[in-house]
Amino acid sequence: MKRIYMDNAATTRITEPVLEAMLPYLTNVYGNPSSVHAFGREARKAVETARRQVAAAINAQPSEIYFTGCGTEADNWALRGAAYAKNAKGKHIITTQIEHHAILHTAEQLEKEGFEVTYLPVDEHGSVDLEALKRAIRPDTAIVSIMAANNEIGTIQPIREAAAIAKEHGALFHTDAVQAIGCEKIDVKDMKIDLLSLSGHKFHGPKGVGVLYVRSGVRLERLIQGGAQERTQRGGTENLASIVGMGKAIEIAVSNMEERNAYIASLRDRLINGLLERIPETRLNGHPTNRLSGNANVSVRYIEGESLLLSLDMKGIAASSGSACTSGSLDPSHVLLAIGLSHEIAHGSMRFSLNEENTIEEVDYTIDTMVEVVERLRAMSPLYAR
Ligand SMILES: *Cc1c(COP(=O)(O)O)cnc(C)c1O
Repeated sequence: MKRIYMDNAATTRITEPVLEAMLPYLTNVYGNPSSVHAFGREARKAVETARRQVAAAINAQPSEIYFTGCGTEADNWALRGAAYAKNAKGKHIITTQIEHHAILHTAEQLEKEGFEVTYLPVDEHGSVDLEALKRAIRPDTAIVSIMAANNEIGTIQPIREAAAIAKEHGALFHTDAVQAIGCEKIDVKDMKIDLLSLSGHKFHGPKGVGVLYVRSGVRLERLIQGGAQERTQRGGTENLASIVGMGKAIEIAVSNMEERNAYIASLRDRLINGLLERIPETRLNGHPTNRLSGNANVSVRYIEGESLLLSLDMKGIAASSGSACTSGSLDPSHVLLAIGLSHEIAHGSMRFSLNEENTIEEVDYTIDTMVEVVERLRAMSPLYAR
């Protein structure tokens, strides 16, 4: 059976050039980057090359790049580090209702610790309301955290404008750019971003490595205490091979961006149009145009997302459902509820996340399979019969 992978927002494949860059650091070059001998110096050199590659991709200085254990750690560090910072402006934090759980659950924890958090609403397309940000921001707002693009519905956020508002009020601005990198151009200097999170495995790098960009001059509390690694700010022996792989992967991700994303967007639009035209009572979630090139999120009425997901899996297609049943919770996605979907509609949602490795043939097969599977599932649905 053909196997089709359309779950690139969950994770991506390590590509050959990335693996090749990593291999020496899993075998012959095994020194500890902190060691002063030749083995250590060789490892250190590789870490610093990767740091330069990441910095160049977002127009930062290498000294502003800190390697972390994952995107989640970078998000935790940004929020907690800014909240606990000795020079924090106060105990108020602003974020949005549609952030990744790495931000939302951290914000909720901070609330328990006595911080006050404002969760900005979004409109029907999932765009954050800048007027609401202007109303919410206060003299004691320490940090504003707004994701660059949403992982579920693909909506791209006005982070340049949001950063300007934060700056005007003296608050730090953080963005979770885990999904946006390689898709949208990101220039931290030009966009006046103070803190930015990345994750290696979302752009063909390895899992278990991330980055927090910290603008020079910004003081964060440490999240991980330990040795003097990462200029004493993040203890722990560097994940050498993964850092090297992420450096190579980000270099590729930001090269040839326009052409690659135009191709991915053409596949996405073909998929969206095919599904909406051929399956009645289907809607697109997220912004109709201002969305990630690879994201297609649709709700299919009278269908359980989980049943649809399993049926597609049996036909060889890997996607993701909008409900979070697999993670042990029956609650529909907080993102889909935030854009105003009812529980019922949110439960019938599917996310297809494409990249440059997908083909037109795969898209057409997916549309045909969806038509067939939805018909079969609806035929069995008592809701649909009515
Ligand atoms: C995947 C993801 C994360 C978490 O990154 P990990 O490296 O998997 O911990 C954070 N934010 C967004 C938007 C993501 O898509």
